[in-house]
Amino acid sequence: MKKSIKDYNYNEKKVILRCDLNVPMKNNIIEDDTRIKQSLKTINYLIENNAKVIILSHLGKIKEESDLEKNNLYPVSIRLGELLNKEVIFIDETRGEKLESAVNNLKPKEVLLVQNTRYEDLYDNKESNCDSELSKYWASLGDIFINDAYATLHRSHASNVGIAKYLPSAVGFLIEEELNKIDNFLNKEEHPFTVIMGGAKVKDKIKLIENLINKCDKLIIGGLMAYTFLYASEIKVGKTQIDEESIDFCKEMLIKHKDKIILPIDSLVSTDINSNNYENKFITDINSDELALDIGEETIKLYKEELKESKKVLINGPLGYFEKETYANGTKEVFNYIAENNILCLVGGGDSASAVNKLCDPQKFYHISTGGGATLKYLEGTKLAGLESINDID
Ligand code: ADP
Ligand code: MG
Repeated sequence: MKKSIKDYNYNEKKVILRCDLNVPMKNNIIEDDTRIKQSLKTINYLIENNAKVIILSHLGKIKEESDLEKNNLYPVSIRLGELLNKEVIFIDETRGEKLESAVNNLKPKEVLLVQNTRYEDLYDNKESNCDSELSKYWASLGDIFINDAYATLHRSHASNVGIAKYLPSAVGFLIEEELNKIDNFLNKEEHPFTVIMGGAKVKDKIKLIENLINKCDKLIIGGLMAYTFLYASEIKVGKTQIDEESIDFCKEMLIKHKDKIILPIDSLVSTDINSNNYENKFITDINSDELALDIGEETIKLYKEELKESKKVLINGPLGYFEKETYANGTKEVFNYIAENNILCLVGGGDSASAVNKLCDPQKFYHISTGGGATLKYLEGTKLAGLESINDID
């Protein structure tokens, strides 16, 4: 068990808090402040406990000089201040005298936000390569380290894994709650347990399939990845993009788990991904100039039938090209069926989460996980570097 934020005394202590304030931005304007809001519980707890709060976060990617201004954290400090209802001191640098003196002058209950940690990536990728000198430097600014950046938990960066090597550490409320939700879901012995997988590449999901295939009762496969499975069973899928590298894996799965895997029986096909003209065809009728963009009517019926008795469902991946309304119907129908039947359902994956938020009432799901990559890794059973580096309970 990892130490929790509740395991330390913060009175007058300098706390380095790694948050995920990586919000979508356009022209330095925040488009969605969900991630800032999700960080408030931990920040407020530290304030209430008389800590001096020093926040680190990344924003976007920094590869060249022109990425700096686009990914300036300043607007985030303003929004954070509004949400906390208190001043947030913003330091426009990731190291140096200005930062050090601001940290030394910080009083209990004050909040300071440091410029985007990935500014350190401009030269030598110091943040992303977990540079030890940088990690030590950031650690030297505080007394305790709290990691609450759930979405980057699978990464090994200076601002999460690096600092944790040099300070007493714990996880914040967001990480604790996300992992508890997933653990509770996986540990609940509810059957039939159905996994719905979709999305683009089989390759990205191989480990997840391997980890879940023996735990679930049914594996429903939709989305683009279904067509690699169909192709592997000798069905002609036309122009639909298949994942060549994964054909052998699909063949093996189809032999070993024939009774568990359910594939589409019909599809919405078109000759052009940008066109709204489509036909609903059986998968054995796809022409060589067509590509499959959504599951068809018969498949929706089949999937609903399979889900009817399910007590627990895990969703990872949309069932079609849902970004385009014409091809969002399969995802919408199947996901809403789960919601309307009150089936215990966990949604993991960035695109799956946005599909649910766009097409369904998100309140009807047990949990929609916020960290795409981190959640996927956790569900795969892969250890998360950012979690491993945190102190265990004594
Ligand atoms: P997640 O982020 O939930 O793990 P993925 O990243 O694996 O999901 O895949 C999501 C993407 O897959 C979406 O952009 C969606 O449009 C695409 N997709 C799903 N089915 C199809 C399809 N039949 N044709 C084209 N794109 C598809
Ligand atoms: Mg995705």
